[in-house]
Amino acid sequence: TSWFQGKHVLVIGLAKSGMAASKLLRRLGAHVTVNDAKDLTGTEEGRTLKDAGMTVVSGGHPLSLFDSKVDYVVKNPGIRYDTPIIEKAVSLGIPVVTEMELAGLVAEGDILAITGSNGKTTTTTLIYEILKRSNVHAHIAGNIGKVACAVAENTKKDDVMVTEVSSFQLKGTEYFHPKTAVLLNIYDAHLDYHGDRADYEYSKGKIFANLTAGDYAVYNADNPSAASLAQASSAKLIPFSANTEVPEGAYVKDGAFYFQNMYILSVKEAALPGRHNQENMLAAIAASMLHGAEAEEVQAVLKTFTGIEHRLQYVGDVHGRKVYNDSKATNILSTQKAVEAFDGPVVLIAGGLDRGNEFDALIPSLQTVKAAVFYGETRDKLKKAAQAAGVADTVTVDSLTEAVRHAYAYTQENDVLLLSPACASWDQFQTFEERGRCFIEEVNKL
Ligand code: ADP
Repeated sequence: TSWFQGKHVLVIGLAKSGMAASKLLRRLGAHVTVNDAKDLTGTEEGRTLKDAGMTVVSGGHPLSLFDSKVDYVVKNPGIRYDTPIIEKAVSLGIPVVTEMELAGLVAEGDILAITGSNGKTTTTTLIYEILKRSNVHAHIAGNIGKVACAVAENTKKDDVMVTEVSSFQLKGTEYFHPKTAVLLNIYDAHLDYHGDRADYEYSKGKIFANLTAGDYAVYNADNPSAASLAQASSAKLIPFSANTEVPEGAYVKDGAFYFQNMYILSVKEAALPGRHNQENMLAAIAASMLHGAEAEEVQAVLKTFTGIEHRLQYVGDVHGRKVYNDSKATNILSTQKAVEAFDGPVVLIAGGLDRGNEFDALIPSLQTVKAAVFYGETRDKLKKAAQAAGVADTVTVDSLTEAVRHAYAYTQENDVLLLSPACASWDQFQTFEERGRCFIEEVNKL
């Protein structure tokens, strides 16, 4: 990291991660120029940066930023590679990285990195909770925790930094070297950003790029893309599978979780529902036990961890009905997974922003849905799909509040009452979190 002393670094795209990266780079002795599309003149942020001795260029991304010396570009993961400013940097041969690269460079402790199209936050949190119980000095970073480079700077030799990593972040890394890298799955996602699936897979695969023989590559053996990327790495391979016994890794056998032939817990005792969560739990078992967790600690967490807020979160038992809040499900795939997580009768609430798509893809997943209540812009389209799926009762209402009351009326004891909207919330709410809280509030009134 002494390399940064006196170097000229251009940070493009501020937000939380750019802010953390800029401050870190200053502490490392770099000359920092911060550039953001938003005009920062007269703002608190702008002043903070200037007071810290940085140059601020805002209100656009002028190519003239390269008229003076730039040794290194740190870009916000959300900024696409086909924007002129990034194309210019690349054409000049300047390294373009994300703050995740900085995190890897400054971390004293081990990095335990988790990526995948789905399940990252759940798995990252599970691993962190298990390690905390196991007297490992664990930190959490990424989406749910603090910005990775800020956490990394404060790690010590025996610490473990449990870090959620996206494909956007990974694409901007060169030397990122976790001790343990977990690849949960690869589905078609974010292809607009990456251009094609090959680039998406290449970016996800970078999580393994610098692993050596003493490191661990934990991967989903049931997901062909994940498996082939892991197998190309030099690390020790630790597969997990919800289908097949993989004795060198974590697996489900006769309704129970095992790790390297050791019985851990019956699937029924785990608090998280659903086949997709079995995969997340297997990954968490493998990764945490490789870092020193014992079976008892894993059991304790898996028995009590009911999920992260708004992600198929168990809200509670309401007069014998099991209520789940899956407000984070802003697309069809997530709602499919949520509904498929339950064997018994489900009363579903869905609806929200209309992005122009139909919901036919949902039809095969609605077999266990006995009644459905739809609201928001997409309610008629959803109703059409539910009727095609043969759902006995389908109702449309105006608001989520009304939907809760109607849906409850269709439930009987032991049914599942599920909010999994399959749509973004923005037609009626600011965020999916607000939508989830509104749901819980209404449920508590029942
Ligand atoms: P991410 O952080 O990758 O977005 P989350 O853990 O926040 O993932 O889960 C988001 C949603 O993705 C969940 O509500 C669920 O519908 C779905 N999901 C979670 N884990 C998996 C998985 N292993 N496979 C497929 N879908 C999943």
